[in-house]
Amino acid sequence: TGVSWAQGEEQGTIEADIVVNCAGMWARELGAQNGVTIPLHACEHFYLVTEPIPGLTRLPVLRVPDECAYYKEDAGKMMLGAFEPVAKPWGMDGISEDFCFDQLPEDMEHFEPILEMGVNRMPMLATAGIHTFFNGPESFTPDDRYYLGEAPELSGYWMATGYNSIGIVSSGGAGMALAQWINDGEAPFDLWEVDIRRAQPFQKNRRYLKERVSETLGLLYADHFPYRQMATSRNVRRSPLHEHLKARGAVFGEVAGWERANWFAREGQEREYRYSWKRQNWFDNQREEHLAVRNKVGLFDMTSFGKIRVEGRDACAFLQRLCANDMDVAPGKIVYTQMLNAKGGIESDLTVTRLSETAYFLVVPGATLQRDLAWLRRHVADEFVVITDVTAAEAVLCLMGPESRKLIQKLSPNDFSNEGNPFGTFHEIEIGMGLARAHRVTYVGELGWELYVSTEQAAHVFEAISDAGAEVGLKLCGLHTLDSC
Ligand SMILES: Cc1cc2nc3c(=O)[nH]c(=O)nc-3n(C[C@H](O)[C@H](O)[C@H](O)COP(=O)(O)OP(=O)(O)OC[C@H]3O[C@@H](n4cnc5c(N)ncnc54)[C@H](O)[C@@H]3O)c2cc1C
Repeated sequence: TGVSWAQGEEQGTIEADIVVNCAGMWARELGAQNGVTIPLHACEHFYLVTEPIPGLTRLPVLRVPDECAYYKEDAGKMMLGAFEPVAKPWGMDGISEDFCFDQLPEDMEHFEPILEMGVNRMPMLATAGIHTFFNGPESFTPDDRYYLGEAPELSGYWMATGYNSIGIVSSGGAGMALAQWINDGEAPFDLWEVDIRRAQPFQKNRRYLKERVSETLGLLYADHFPYRQMATSRNVRRSPLHEHLKARGAVFGEVAGWERANWFAREGQEREYRYSWKRQNWFDNQREEHLAVRNKVGLFDMTSFGKIRVEGRDACAFLQRLCANDMDVAPGKIVYTQMLNAKGGIESDLTVTRLSETAYFLVVPGATLQRDLAWLRRHVADEFVVITDVTAAEAVLCLMGPESRKLIQKLSPNDFSNEGNPFGTFHEIEIGMGLARAHRVTYVGELGWELYVSTEQAAHVFEAISDAGAEVGLKLCGLHTLDSC
């Protein structure tokens, strides 16, 4: 590894074991040169500085989130900046190398609503006169959090970038954390919030980014209601059951680009979140779903799970080395386990199913798939093992609740008894007119099965379950219910 550089006619290479991409809003394109995904996009950020205001003394910094504004006394002048709800993305055709902290053209029309509220809040702004109207670009990320850590695609390639307008205030801590991480090989504390491995490969799509950052800039000052969902750049990753769920009232939330049914609206009920710091509008829906799982049976679409096949002659030895539990189990067994780092800290939380002597099937949260893949790939030593992301190949329908056996037995001729399919085992089953793998696991504290269904058969299996479900009180359930169970 190393860094190639060029200046005028001169050029050269600096040999280095570790490279850190800290190229600000240029980082995405720089990363792309090495096949590294860094989803960020520049936006215009505006502030103004007044002429000197006689008698103005030092004042505390004032933030007015409701008006998207911040105020700062600046050497006898007043500064007013904004994080407006619909921002202006910038640099869609790339950012030239010689752009260096230059100013962008002012846009008074865009800033005016903020200024109007500013004058109302601080009347002296009306008469102070504007000394500088500043517009400069800064990079924003799809979730308003910056990127630290090693690129999952390339060993030795680290980054500290995508600072969402808090790069100055964060620099000391972020720099210290990254330096320790590089030095020790492990994050000094939980840095998952800002870990680059949360980024999804599709997120480098520039249209996705442009639309999303027009929202994330303003979210810096918006109310962070519980369960608040992004409004832009949605519907990129969808389960094959998406339209079926939507037709039955699903209200979706987004994780890692996946649309997931969070709750189901009743017939005639508004299919939108009404955010609140108190009880939100879906409380009773979740209550009914929760009770169905406790007393009858619920169906969750968990297709967003990350699915990884690990196979080859040394698959067992490899997983045995990485996982905390015994992986040398009989084919057909499912093991809930963790992958640990050298200090015993949890790097991954997963189920591992032994499909055959030489093939394992790993199930991880959708949000951690890239991290888990990177962890696995990074730790292959001289073992013969092939690691494949098979997430898109199968939908996951979870039937959970005390009546789940009764329901699944109506749909399939296979044996779902405790003897035939004990907890922690799977078997291939016939269901409707299709096939599935029935994994006997649960995460709701009740009897349950995960059904792994080949993507093209998922809608058929869903329809078969829905038809048979009415008699046993089957209820479609969302992720909020999974959380409360
Ligand atoms: C108007 C405005 C006001 C702001 N106010 C605040 C504030 O009050 N508080 C706060 O915390 N943050 C603030 N910010 C945000 C803050 O300035 C940024 O988050 C911070 O500067 C980002 O630092 P960085 O080092 O990641 O990127 P940058 O400061 O952009 O540095 C990246 C560097 O990489 C260089 N580079 C790019 N490509 C290459 C390459 N191929 N090879 C070598 N070098 C390369 C660039 O020339 C540049 O020097 C503000 C931003 C703006 C625009």
